[in-house]
Amino acid sequence: MEEEEFDIVILGTGLAGLRAALEATVESDGKLSIALISKLHAMRSHSVAAEGGISGVLYGEENKDSKKLHAYDTIKGSDYLADQDAVELLAQNAPNEILLMDHLGVPWNKDARNRINQRPFGGMTIPRTAFAQDKTGFFLMSALYNTITQFENIKVFHEHFATKLVMEGGEFRGICAIDLADGSFKFIRGGAGVIATGGYGRAYKTTTTSYSSTGDGTALAYREGISLKDMEFVQFHPTALVPNGILITEASRGEGGYLVNSKGERFMKNYAPSKMELAPRDIVSRAIATEFERGNGFKDSSSGMEYVGLDIRHLGSERIDTKLPMVKEIVMKSLGIDPSKEIIPVAPAAHFTMGGIHTSTLGHAMLDEKRQSSSLWAIGECGCVSVHGANRLGSNSLSQCLVWGKIAGEEMARKKIKVVNSKQAYKAAEAEQSRIAKMLERKGTQSVYLIRSELQEEMVRDVFVYRRVEQLKRAISVIGGLMARFEDAIITDKGRIYNTNLRDALEIGNLLDLAYATTLCALGRKESRGAHSMVEYPKRDDANWLKHSIVKMSAGKPKISYLPVAIKGFEPEERKY
Ligand SMILES: Cc1cc2nc3c(=O)[nH]c(=O)nc-3n(C[C@H](O)[C@H](O)[C@H](O)COP(=O)(O)OP(=O)(O)OC[C@H]3O[C@@H](n4cnc5c(N)ncnc54)[C@H](O)[C@@H]3O)c2cc1C
Repeated sequence: MEEEEFDIVILGTGLAGLRAALEATVESDGKLSIALISKLHAMRSHSVAAEGGISGVLYGEENKDSKKLHAYDTIKGSDYLADQDAVELLAQNAPNEILLMDHLGVPWNKDARNRINQRPFGGMTIPRTAFAQDKTGFFLMSALYNTITQFENIKVFHEHFATKLVMEGGEFRGICAIDLADGSFKFIRGGAGVIATGGYGRAYKTTTTSYSSTGDGTALAYREGISLKDMEFVQFHPTALVPNGILITEASRGEGGYLVNSKGERFMKNYAPSKMELAPRDIVSRAIATEFERGNGFKDSSSGMEYVGLDIRHLGSERIDTKLPMVKEIVMKSLGIDPSKEIIPVAPAAHFTMGGIHTSTLGHAMLDEKRQSSSLWAIGECGCVSVHGANRLGSNSLSQCLVWGKIAGEEMARKKIKVVNSKQAYKAAEAEQSRIAKMLERKGTQSVYLIRSELQEEMVRDVFVYRRVEQLKRAISVIGGLMARFEDAIITDKGRIYNTNLRDALEIGNLLDLAYATTLCALGRKESRGAHSMVEYPKRDDANWLKHSIVKMSAGKPKISYLPVAIKGFEPEERKY
């Protein structure tokens, strides 16, 4: 087993991980050594796929906008499940992050006065989403990655797959990882640790997320007894391209695109008469699912999938080319149609996971409802600090990644946590090495790929936009069966160099654990709130359910408990758009 040691170990090189590394470097004057670990090349992290933009109040007075209004929109959008102290931090700090990215060279779309353009996004009262065409994530990542590679204190471990989080008494000791290039096993020790491994949209068959969005860090933390929060809340984006699920950004509706059903009606007038297509995503996705149930969908002849039409023809070629070039490219390459001439077929697909590792307001991983680790943080999409509550507003995730990347980086630099070289941690890493070796040697009978496709199909069938008690019960039983089969799964590739079969198996194991936790929490919540819509309990029930779900592994079994929501000034009210 190879060993390396750093002051700080950051697992994940998406927007959140890179931002944390930059802040810890700047705050410590480059004196802290930092490891950045990624299962992909860092610049292939999912964040590069973010399209529509990043939220933050930039020109408050001129635009009649304010940070308080940004906070209000976010809390209302969250169906009042967001923790309001966390939302306040988001709204306060997002503008500076956008300006920092401007200094680092992000080519924002700007007006003639060199002011950063801001476009409307779902659930936001004022246009406050800054954007660089519809490739915002790529430009943010490029700016950050180019910056961090200039510092000698940062070492990037590209294509290293983390298999275990090593903890001792609730404190961080290191990460075990396989170097995919040669199969060697490494124990990367650190004083402070950060998990920034993104979401787990790949638990679903129809998803807009990258193949790599398998929630690995969340599953690793869960296995170490760290609590997960609000796992039942999965965001279904209303406009994923049919049939392949690639995202058609909300910016296309922000720029003025309409949704139409097979009768040619702009059906959103029946669901959100004032906001129409720019209602929050949970509402638009439910509206589309209801249109399908009423027989008002179109049918894709090759896949049999239902869809509604996204019409951007009236925007004209010039506007599409300057503001939405990627939408045009995706639609032309996938379907061979020109969106300035034909409507785009779209349907809801899993897009974002609001739930994740339970954290404190400053991003510390929580060991249970109240006790926090002082050396482990969880940030970005995998961390549930709870700014999004039951439903995220579009463009709030990129700001969350940057804001909590900064907060965690700053805290780690200030605390200067020393590496603890314990025998117990070393033994845990050795045990992990032999677990992986045994997994490779195992003579199983089950195909991991069959297990994955059955899981993804089950999640779409029973844990999707509308949920029913019987369906959730069936999902628990199906996923439980898949977990048992996974114990008997075979890794057919026994090689060491780029063993993607082993990597896939480890990812599928993670997806199974997270899908099970999601379904269990969904079955537990007897109300409808945000993205969690229960047919038997169609109303939000603040008297009984204005609380977070916490799920924790206890004696090998998931145990659910609940935690109050932090209300700081915005009392829950009926959510109308
Ligand atoms: C198509 C699409 C478009 C989007 N557009 C927007 C948008 O315009 N605005 C917005 O606010 N949000 C958007 N989102 C959401 C947003 O992109 C994500 O929430 C955000 O980028 C997540 O960033 P992250 O840093 O948390 O993680 P990611 O960018 O997902 O990075 C995860 C990192 O963890 C690493 N990792 C994971 N597992 C392991 C492992 N086992 N070992 C080692 N490394 C590992 C990966 O290699 C990667 O480096 C979009 C989402 C999708 C699907």
